[in-house]
Amino acid sequence: MRRVALITKHEKARWIAPYLAPLGYEVYESSLFDTDILGTFSGEVERTLSPMDAALTKAKKACELTGADWGLGSEGSFGGGPAPGMINWNDELLCLYQASTDIAIYAHAAGATSVQELTLDGRVPLKQKLLGLPNQLWILRSEQPIEKGLSAKQLLDRLEQIGSSSQKVKIEPDLRAMHCPERQKMIAKAAEDLVRRLSETCPQCQAFNFVVKEKQSGLPCTLCTLPTEQAKSWTHICDACGYRNDEIVPQKGADPTYCQFCNP
Ligand SMILES: [Zn+2]
Ligand SMILES: [Zn+2]
Repeated sequence: MRRVALITKHEKARWIAPYLAPLGYEVYESSLFDTDILGTFSGEVERTLSPMDAALTKAKKACELTGADWGLGSEGSFGGGPAPGMINWNDELLCLYQASTDIAIYAHAAGATSVQELTLDGRVPLKQKLLGLPNQLWILRSEQPIEKGLSAKQLLDRLEQIGSSSQKVKIEPDLRAMHCPERQKMIAKAAEDLVRRLSETCPQCQAFNFVVKEKQSGLPCTLCTLPTEQAKSWTHICDACGYRNDEIVPQKGADPTYCQFCNP
């Protein structure tokens, strides 16, 4: 087994280790480094690194502090996505780093999430909104010090104590992995992406991550034969030796729906 160190206070190995185990990687947790130094969701520490840099920094720290050859970094973010402001979006990034070769593999998963800030107004009572996100824990911001990791019941009790009519309360999801079931699912999806990248190796040099990295558009329209934006081939590229392999799509032509000329 290759031992992979993951530095976390948020029990993340639970959603990653089962996927990597069949490939011979044993993911274990270490708490030697406080990853909150690199930024927190609740805003006490501002995030200054990009998600990729943050994930790589965590993976390298894991190797450095535990002496392991392999380190794993995980970084989640919320917001962005295809329709910012309309759809809540969660992006989960994993970085697997090998200290002896200085190779880093990034894997990710992203998608819509229903985790969001809740308000006391509107027609739907808070209790019902909370039921929509079972097992999600909450953060309460009020005139009291910030309270984190509250269950739905604890949150409702606290609101009753401070007077839920107060306009000064803010109810935010606690986005730390162990308190956010939707993030747990997305982290597991990113782990599946990592498995795929570890499984696809370069036919030339056997390096990992020989996956599709470029798209060649120009599949001809079936009606007028002009090139469209649809892919005519996908290119696997090796980061280590530069070997490229084009995979031609099985379709002979593109649906005229995608044609600039037939369907502008
Ligand atoms: Zn056409
Ligand atoms: Zn190669």
